[in-house]
Amino acid sequence: MYKLRNYQEVTINRIYEQLKLGHRSIMVQQPPRTGKTVIMAEIARRATRKGNSVLFLVHRKELVDQARRTFEEQGVDMSLVTMGMVQTMTRHVGELSEPTIIMIDEAHHVLAKSYRRIIDAFPRAVRIMVTATPWRMNGAGFEGVADCLIPGQSMGNLIKHGFLAPIRYFRPPDINTAELKTKANGEFDEQSVAEALKPKIYSNAVKMYLAHARGMQAIAYAYNVQSAKQLAKNFNDAGISAAEVDGATPKEERDRLIQRYRDGKITILTNAELFTEGLDLPNVDCVIMMRPTQSLSLYLQFSMRAMNPRAGKTAVIIDHVDNLSRFGLPIDERSWTLKGTQTAGRKHGETITPTTTCPYCFATFYRKGRKTCPICGRKLTVPDEESGPVHIDADLVEVSQAKQQAKRRVEIAHMIRDSEMMKWIADKTPDQLENMIQLQYYARLHGYKPGWAYVVGKKRGFVR
Ligand SMILES: [Zn+2]
Repeated sequence: MYKLRNYQEVTINRIYEQLKLGHRSIMVQQPPRTGKTVIMAEIARRATRKGNSVLFLVHRKELVDQARRTFEEQGVDMSLVTMGMVQTMTRHVGELSEPTIIMIDEAHHVLAKSYRRIIDAFPRAVRIMVTATPWRMNGAGFEGVADCLIPGQSMGNLIKHGFLAPIRYFRPPDINTAELKTKANGEFDEQSVAEALKPKIYSNAVKMYLAHARGMQAIAYAYNVQSAKQLAKNFNDAGISAAEVDGATPKEERDRLIQRYRDGKITILTNAELFTEGLDLPNVDCVIMMRPTQSLSLYLQFSMRAMNPRAGKTAVIIDHVDNLSRFGLPIDERSWTLKGTQTAGRKHGETITPTTTCPYCFATFYRKGRKTCPICGRKLTVPDEESGPVHIDADLVEVSQAKQQAKRRVEIAHMIRDSEMMKWIADKTPDQLENMIQLQYYARLHGYKPGWAYVVGKKRGFVR
């Protein structure tokens, strides 16, 4: 049996309190990597001990096996538990007997038809729905399926007490977000991602890894299979053992690669959307993001993948695609609600906590009055000629002073990515804007509330 951490006990107690208050459908928020399944297993253990039955729904096959192991470990009476993939269960809903409790993992998907069909079939069952991100890309709320929300522990506390590793976050300027286009479902269009990325991104990824995470085991999230393969090749070419895994990788081969990764024989696994929810990979210390996303759920799953704690560990997150500007740092405190139209897990009108990106090493942090970069120690003034020669790129070391300074100015212009976008936006009118990102920049430039971009985006069909 797992020894429950005190914050897990707090959450379990809160669930019982809500049940006592008469709530029947409870949404529970728990940050990624903080043992959501253990919480559900403990509730299932207590429920089955009293003879109650549990229907447990997940939405990926791998997660079924993982959850079953956790439940067994916790001492749940498995004869009273039905566990399976929602896609399968929904087709056989007529054959299921009525459960006392329906538990739903990754419950931000719960509004999908497949879940609704099951929920609607058993209106008397108590529902416990757990997710790291009670948030939908389309802005929909969960008031229709949940009658209360239990927020998890603050990120600051979880880190302070060693339940999550502290992070170093780097944001190299490898994408021109102005070029990103959004698809009907709100996510970025793959072709536009390919076009927005700087051609040097693969070699930059290797450089950034070597500069800030050398030797650490990493997972890289690429925007498609081809880019995942290319990235693995660049790492291998640089002498860092890497392997690519995707949906077409035969299961045996995938399992073999994952095992080699667990054994520390592969340093970097690259993938396109495979290692998102669930799948336990405890030894990830670094995450490399090459996949821009509009989904807060994905962003937190990607970035927090590296935050499994270990004594003395600091996780490294390298964000080549500026996901930060849409969601803030993963360690940001968010105020979750069941209501719709939250922006990056914030209530309407709340903004993302501002961060500073060091123009030299690209470390991104809360400035809090700092005068120097906490990672490289350089002075954080607006870079100018007085700041002396700066080695932004190892390639520059041999270049003459004048050239170096010229190159530096160009680099800095790129780094201050926001200002480029602002310049482009400056002479536009809202009807000339083509996607959510542009609307968000426009709102910032004109000092509008963040909600403005959403409202206009919705009207224009950028958000659905
Ligand atoms: Zn720095």
